[in-house]
Amino acid sequence: MTPATRADLASIPTYVPGRSYPGAIKLASNETTQGPLPGVAQAIADAAANANRYPDNTASALIGALSQALGVPAENIAAGCGSVALCQELVQITCGVGDEVIYAWRSFEAYPVVTKVAGATPVPVPLTVDHGHDLDAMLAAITDRTRLIFVCNPNNPTGAALGRDELELFLDAVPAHIVVALDEAYFEYNRSGVDGIELARGRRNVVVLRTFSKAYGLAGVRVGYAVADPEIVTALAKVHITFSVNAVAQAAAIACLDARDELLARTDAIVAERDRMRDALIAAGYDVPVTEANFVWLPLRERSAAYGEASAEAGVLIRPYGTDGVRITIGDPHENDAFLTFATAAPARELAGLPVVAQ
Ligand code: PMP
Repeated sequence: MTPATRADLASIPTYVPGRSYPGAIKLASNETTQGPLPGVAQAIADAAANANRYPDNTASALIGALSQALGVPAENIAAGCGSVALCQELVQITCGVGDEVIYAWRSFEAYPVVTKVAGATPVPVPLTVDHGHDLDAMLAAITDRTRLIFVCNPNNPTGAALGRDELELFLDAVPAHIVVALDEAYFEYNRSGVDGIELARGRRNVVVLRTFSKAYGLAGVRVGYAVADPEIVTALAKVHITFSVNAVAQAAAIACLDARDELLARTDAIVAERDRMRDALIAAGYDVPVTEANFVWLPLRERSAAYGEASAEAGVLIRPYGTDGVRITIGDPHENDAFLTFATAAPARELAGLPVVAQ
């Protein structure tokens, strides 16, 4: 007999990560290209040498270091096994079966997954024509059952960022019993000056999510954090999978905070490359929305899948999203050049629906 699982599992989308092939240039997962700094690698090795011991389940040293770095009391900080775990934990602490979670769509692929896993109901709200959050439509989508709203700023995969004024108006308009998760996974690349931690001060229902996976270069060891009201932090601890923020991750994150000036300086190079990529693609005739993250978005609609496949065949893995578009992570200059070589040549131009002779 087949073991019984939940009847609704078939309706839960499976998270699809970016592809990876040996030898291919991987611009598909918004990672950084450089490995850990020597001090971070040493902290990882030291922590690995004690792998026989359980980690500190309260991640107190890491939370202390984050408290110092962010100027936020430790009681306002929770750590997670990547910020994706905190997304799931937020649904778990706010929603019962049938409660509603609002998010923009298209946005981070995990929002519908974590919502449905918790038995809650996803309420996706289409992006604006400029590929950003439609905050008015998101407000209009609030019902008696709404418990949580994800706002991804800058938005993955489109890169669009919200202005401070519109975000503040939105936060003030959301009823105070509804939790708003400001997902700032790409905060360190956002040059618009909007800082969720500032906006969350005095707004007890606002939770800020950040991660060590992107600018800090620790995607492989899994650690993120939430800044929130102490009551939310306490609630998160209840649903947290015990010991899921492992000892290597905690040590690596602390070492990254110690080296944060050096690591954050690297984001300037990515931002410069991002602007170079966008300018070059626009010059070639592509529609490229303004981006505040470490990727660019090409809204190629129904042409996306074939375009992504052709790019992979040309040795550059990018990320197609259904019939919406493709996302290209900013890599090293030679990797970005490899994508530009593909994108500006006649076959790709034809797939993108551009005139085959560049103007
Ligand atoms: N939020 C957003 C918007 C993301 O793009 C990602 C990673 N793709 C995450 C959260 C999760 O990152 P991690 O779990 O690695 O911290």
